[in-house]
Amino acid sequence: MDTALFDKFDREHLWHPYTSAIDPLPTYKVAGARGNRITLADGCELIDGMSSWWCVIHGYNHPVLNAAAAAQIEKMSHVMFGGLTHDPAIELGKLLLDMCPPEMNNIFFADSGSVSVEVALKVAIQAAVSRSGSHEKTNFATIRSGYHGDTWNAMSVCDPVTGMHGAFGAALPKRFFLPQPRSRFDGEWDPADIEPLRDLLGKRSSEIAALILEPIVQGAGGMWFYHPEYLRQARRLCDEHGVYLIFDEIATGFWRTGRCFAQEHAGVVPDIMTVGKGLTGGYLTLAAVITTREVAETLSRGEAGVLMHGPTFMANPLACAVACASLRLVREQDTAGVVARIENRLKTLLEPARGLAGVADVRVLGTIGVIEVDDNVNVGVFQKECVKRGVWIRPFGRNIYVMPPYVTPEEDLETLCREMTDIIREGKWK
Ligand code: PMP
Repeated sequence: MDTALFDKFDREHLWHPYTSAIDPLPTYKVAGARGNRITLADGCELIDGMSSWWCVIHGYNHPVLNAAAAAQIEKMSHVMFGGLTHDPAIELGKLLLDMCPPEMNNIFFADSGSVSVEVALKVAIQAAVSRSGSHEKTNFATIRSGYHGDTWNAMSVCDPVTGMHGAFGAALPKRFFLPQPRSRFDGEWDPADIEPLRDLLGKRSSEIAALILEPIVQGAGGMWFYHPEYLRQARRLCDEHGVYLIFDEIATGFWRTGRCFAQEHAGVVPDIMTVGKGLTGGYLTLAAVITTREVAETLSRGEAGVLMHGPTFMANPLACAVACASLRLVREQDTAGVVARIENRLKTLLEPARGLAGVADVRVLGTIGVIEVDDNVNVGVFQKECVKRGVWIRPFGRNIYVMPPYVTPEEDLETLCREMTDIIREGKWK
């Protein structure tokens, strides 16, 4: 085993995500990263197809983001947000509201995507109880194959099977799970998709504070792109039954799906939304919960009178300063054009995978290109092949996909798609 690349201490003592302590999957040591390239400790360079779990939208080691971090650290890297405020948070708030629909008005800065989902659920309960006057309105509805994070209540609204949280069984609060909408994003709308939601809200809305959804793209629960009509009808039903609508845009925000936020594909505005991942260009952990004025005011008129959450690192100035630089880049560059070009290329480049043995589906939206295979991928085998071929792709379940940084050059997109397709053609994923 190459000791420069595989560290014994790491293998024996450090948990990595979703892998065993007895027989862990290999972890390749990284020496540095720049643009869309990751350099391993043995000097090998990999073309990054993952944007480090979808957050490094501008690429690694970006001079503008580096400069923003350096400038802020000279002033202060952190200060409490209770009773104090600062320019990075204020500027970030303005930039975010500028990108959001005009109905969005109040922002809570949280420390990670999962925590922002916890906060969104708490906001929904506090506002729903205040609005209805009923203490029973404290549960949630969601659709199957969703993913909203790893903390307790975020887990409770993940798909009980594909959401990776089956191990916790009865310890998790019971939520209302609806079938996953089967109408494809670019296919025909099947009105039967919405019936389970209509039925549920007709019967149980007195118990339900909110419906939480990843709009259009279900990410870590299955990489599925569903029809925008589902969101339009869900909005109508939530309004009819006094149920708040939460959109988790943590994976989909900042143009990942071809629009600034995925909700724009449907023209639907939620009551509460969460953003994270690309918010800081993948530099630091930061997320935000954004609500309408109605939600914020209804919550504030409730029994507690305040939103019951206030973490130590709320609105961390260093993270906010980098996020401001990241959002300015998103705004100043032709992000829409760049993402549209990547989408077109992915559609062409992944087409040859359709019809290969073991391939069940090929789909592309924005900068997300998915090849769904008909059995679970052997991640260790697949990744070994990737590293050998100079690309970084990490599949999960039956999904082999790329979500490259927006700065990926044309020829690197071609290499990513070619290698991914070749590995499948050669059957080296089982
Ligand atoms: N919601 C969605 C839709 C996500 O994709 C993720 C992360 N994959 C999360 C929430 C959780 O975010 P974090 O990992 O930053 O806690």
